[in-house]
Amino acid sequence: MIPAEFDYLAASSLDHALDLLGEHGDEAKLLAGGHSLIPLMKFRLAAPSVLVDISRLTELRTLDRSDGVLRLGAGLRIRDLELSPVVREQLPLLAAAAASVGDRQVRARATIGGTVVHGDPAADLPAVLVTLDATLVLRGPAGRREVPAAEFFVDFWETDCRLDEVLVEIVVPALPGRRWGFQKFRQRSQDWATVGVAVQETADGQHAVGLVNMAPVPWRASAVEDALRAGASADEAAGHAAEGAAPPSDLRGDSAYRAHLARVLTAQALSEAGAS
Ligand SMILES: Cc1cc2nc3c(=O)[nH]c(=O)nc-3n(C[C@H](O)[C@H](O)[C@H](O)COP(=O)(O)OP(=O)(O)OC[C@H]3O[C@@H](n4cnc5c(N)ncnc54)[C@H](O)[C@@H]3O)c2cc1C
Repeated sequence: MIPAEFDYLAASSLDHALDLLGEHGDEAKLLAGGHSLIPLMKFRLAAPSVLVDISRLTELRTLDRSDGVLRLGAGLRIRDLELSPVVREQLPLLAAAAASVGDRQVRARATIGGTVVHGDPAADLPAVLVTLDATLVLRGPAGRREVPAAEFFVDFWETDCRLDEVLVEIVVPALPGRRWGFQKFRQRSQDWATVGVAVQETADGQHAVGLVNMAPVPWRASAVEDALRAGASADEAAGHAAEGAAPPSDLRGDSAYRAHLARVLTAQALSEAGAS
């Protein structure tokens, strides 16, 4: 499988990348880790005539902690998140989910920005960021704008990142010492999730719940959260996991099986996170 012909341009800075996007319009695509874009190009599901490589921009690989939040540069590799002592301490759910992505080679190249903008509902980190109430920071010709993760994922492989914008940063409230759970059911150890569940104990002692691969977008299981707030037990609340979701049917399982998995895994993740 060989992609259609394209020009390769390496951006020397974020401003340069924005200039190149402006110059080449909808012919251009940003290249980060390339682990989603290049396969799409090989299958001819995408055929950009220009690739703007942002993978070497150190200004996108920053990781800062201040004022109770973590600021994650969009160019951080998934392995950076898995190994960072700061992420492990402040957002252990994110570090654990990062460690579950693909294999070590994938994690060493793929970026958090790429997985977010690509918007695959089977990806792990988007659902975790929705659970953690993250905010996505984008830069484009009109300047900077911020979008809550809950509003960023529009549909299958469709996100609110415009063609002339770069996702520069992901801002996540830090939650050191709070309990969490992460469950990922897959057929083989390095597979994508058939279904995944992320649970985070919030600063006010409630539980936020997000689901992987249960809808065309990363899914916040608000019916589970509402049931817990209303006094349901964790097991009772987990029974609501598939409510409102639209799980796909494919070779890994049909939608009824995924709904069943979501209930079972949610009960396990809630238990890990200390929800009673
Ligand atoms: C073998 C394999 C196994 C995998 N297993 C898993 C798994 O278990 N779980 C999981 O979640 N994922 C998995 N992945 C997916 C992998 O995590 C994604 O490919 C990766 O996250 C995409 O990031 P990237 O940096 O490679 O993006 P790219 O492929 O470079 O880009 C993806 C899209 O995002 C755009 N983009 C990238 N960065 C930016 C930015 N900063 N601003 C704006 N647009 C941007 C690109 O233009 C493109 O449209 C797997 C991939 C492979 C190849």
